[in-house]
Amino acid sequence: MTARPRKGLRDVDPYTSPQLDVAARLNTNESPHPLPAGFFEQLADVVRDLPLNRYPDPMATRLREELASATDHPVAGVWAANGSNEILHQLLLAYGGPGRTAMTFEPTYQLHGRLCWITHTAIARGALPPDFVLTDEQVRQAGDARPDVVFVCSPNNPTGNAQPVGIVRDLAEALPTSLIVVDEAYIEFADAPTATTLLPTHENVAVVRTFSKAFAMAGARIGYVLTSPRLVEDLGRVRLPYHLSSLTQAAGICALHHRPEALALIAAIRVQRDRIAAGLASIEGVTVYPSDANFVLFVPPGDARALWRRLLDRGVLIRDMTAVVPNALRVTAGSEHETDLFLKAAKGSLTG
Ligand code: PMP
Repeated sequence: MTARPRKGLRDVDPYTSPQLDVAARLNTNESPHPLPAGFFEQLADVVRDLPLNRYPDPMATRLREELASATDHPVAGVWAANGSNEILHQLLLAYGGPGRTAMTFEPTYQLHGRLCWITHTAIARGALPPDFVLTDEQVRQAGDARPDVVFVCSPNNPTGNAQPVGIVRDLAEALPTSLIVVDEAYIEFADAPTATTLLPTHENVAVVRTFSKAFAMAGARIGYVLTSPRLVEDLGRVRLPYHLSSLTQAAGICALHHRPEALALIAAIRVQRDRIAAGLASIEGVTVYPSDANFVLFVPPGDARALWRRLLDRGVLIRDMTAVVPNALRVTAGSEHETDLFLKAAKGSLTG
């Protein structure tokens, strides 16, 4: 007896990235810096007293209140989940689904498309211009396609550039009954402005953020969305009961108490990002894309896959993006030592 899976299920590979034990793991845009000791001490104290025999607060009220005060956004418009991936999933459960369409502008974060497939949402794939920056042309395309959901990733993964807030506003106004999802997973690394300035006037905008990158908490799985109270109510309709564990809520609250220390590390990561970009640009034949995030996309001379393999042989794991951007690789900005290892390996492989 074998159960018959959903049509096409077995044609799809699980979404994973290698977690190899190498000297420099620069493939998933994590932070190289552990959280401060004070965070763990505070969390341990809180966890000791947690009533784990009871279900957690289904509304994650305290975490949402802390997020509201950290972001200066009304708590009724704040929602939290297990990583921003779960937020994106919930948004599609509520605003996508069978008979509905979401639009992406490629190349972008591949999970947006995969979440459409998971939620049976049709996908309309638009294209970013050659410099990857959205323009009026994409607003026109979206206006013609009339999708129910539009994804804008800013800064965009894997290209690194932020998108103009004015274009997000134009999308929200051209599609007043559609949901404009702005994925700001990397916004803390950018000088570019956030789309949260649109929230008071544009109820159909949802700004999605994560603790996984600038907050150095990828392992804790915490993401959140800043949007309108109406949309938060809708997410309450599709979330699983008690989706966010007491442990996760506690970790999020403690992390917000240590926000200044975490945010202080951003400057150090940006220094490494800029070193990587400058180091790569100094190698003949390498094209480097400008980045507002904690990673750099580049196109090497010769075969990128072969370079990816040579770097791995030298203990440096980066991300093969050749399926998304022709012959491109993406490297995360980690510690100073990791940048040294990466640049040495890249120079050795490309000029040796
Ligand atoms: N959005 C973007 C653009 C990302 O790159 C990532 C992580 N790679 C996520 C969302 C998901 O992050 P998390 O679920 O860890 O919050």
